[in-house]
Amino acid sequence: MPARIIDGRAVASELRAELLERSSALRETGVAPSLAIVLVGEDDSSRAYVQTLARTGERVGVSVSIEELDASASAAQVREQLEKLGNDSGVHGVMLQQPLPPHLSIRTIGEAIPLRKDVDGSHPTNQGLLAFGSGPHFVPATPAAVMLLLERSPHWPLAGRRAVIVGRSVVVGAPVAMLMLAHDATIAILHRRSESFQPYLQLAEVIVVAAGVPGLIGGKDIAAGATVIDVGTTIVDGVLKGDVDFDSAQQVAGAITPVPGGVGPVTNMALMRNAIKAAEDFSSR
Ligand code: NAD
Repeated sequence: MPARIIDGRAVASELRAELLERSSALRETGVAPSLAIVLVGEDDSSRAYVQTLARTGERVGVSVSIEELDASASAAQVREQLEKLGNDSGVHGVMLQQPLPPHLSIRTIGEAIPLRKDVDGSHPTNQGLLAFGSGPHFVPATPAAVMLLLERSPHWPLAGRRAVIVGRSVVVGAPVAMLMLAHDATIAILHRRSESFQPYLQLAEVIVVAAGVPGLIGGKDIAAGATVIDVGTTIVDGVLKGDVDFDSAQQVAGAITPVPGGVGPVTNMALMRNAIKAAEDFSSR
């Protein structure tokens, strides 16, 4: 029997209803939730992503502004922009779009993201808190989306489950691992230098793939009944592709997310949820 599809658009639509209620309640108290996105440079996919976020914001009552800086902007200029947004009481959430141009490093610039407005969890303090399992102020949007989808899987709750994460980036793989550990899963993290994916994948009940390599994992790699969450998004010949070969994996898995229509739409809503939380925190101060 083919795997059950975990429908990201349906999850996003549930979240949208909840977020609209919360943003309307805020507006009634005179607080209009607002998110500022700092976009450095001319990366096409980054631009397309922030434009999608602006449309998502409209659908949930969050006003999104895009603060553009030239590709040649210095680290000091980016920091200055972030600090300015930190001091602006009309802005509740601040996100620094990644990837940054190669001459800029998130490690140093991340510290300038105002901590209480760090809705994508990129400030080193929020990243560090994630590792403590006690929970950061804001969970980064894509890892939060992975968890929201896992909650709808047959392997939830994760306690004691055998899980594999393919990819260990600071934005996706590593924070997903921390969140799954906080839910008591037993995890293995595979990455570019891993010599072999087996036996890890064959033992895994839950597999999260975030490598950016289209079709990296297929039906032959995974165990029957596994839950597969595909984070990958790569444009191949004008078509959006995930890291999982969906057709073959669906024949073996128990539950699977599609691309498009899986992690992406939930990520956008998870970011808006954080922006609304930031506005709620502001309003209760
Ligand atoms: P990244 O390039 O920063 O990290 C990729 C990770 O995968 C690295 O840890 C690397 O070691 C590992 N990797 C690469 N090739 C591998 C291979 N052949 N075998 C095993 N591991 C391998 O990428 P990222 O920012 O973590 O993003 C990963 C993917 O997720 C990309 O396709 C990206 O576009 C997508 N993404 C999607 C969303 C969303 O909302 N849907 C959000 C963020 C990223």
